[in-house]
Amino acid sequence: MGDLHNCRVCGYRWPTPPWGDDGESPDFDICPCCEVEAGYEDASPEGARRYRAEWLANGAPWADESTPHDGLTTEERLTHVPPGFE
Ligand SMILES: [Zn+2]
Repeated sequence: MGDLHNCRVCGYRWPTPPWGDDGESPDFDICPCCEVEAGYEDASPEGARRYRAEWLANGAPWADESTPHDGLTTEERLTHVPPGFE
């Protein structure tokens, strides 16, 4: 399932894996970049794609200003989306 640390929607590299070490135990944390709730909108590839399309349509904003920006462009970050969720 690819790198468990990466957001299924935007590719942001989380400090802790949003779906747990087994990839099946979502922690329901909110992504600081795309604001997806791990275990909710990203529970299926279709859900992740739908959420991503809405986020991109809104200009792909960085959601949490208290979390330092990762320095990547949206395009660069999206290359880190886990395989199967692109
Ligand atoms: Zn994200």
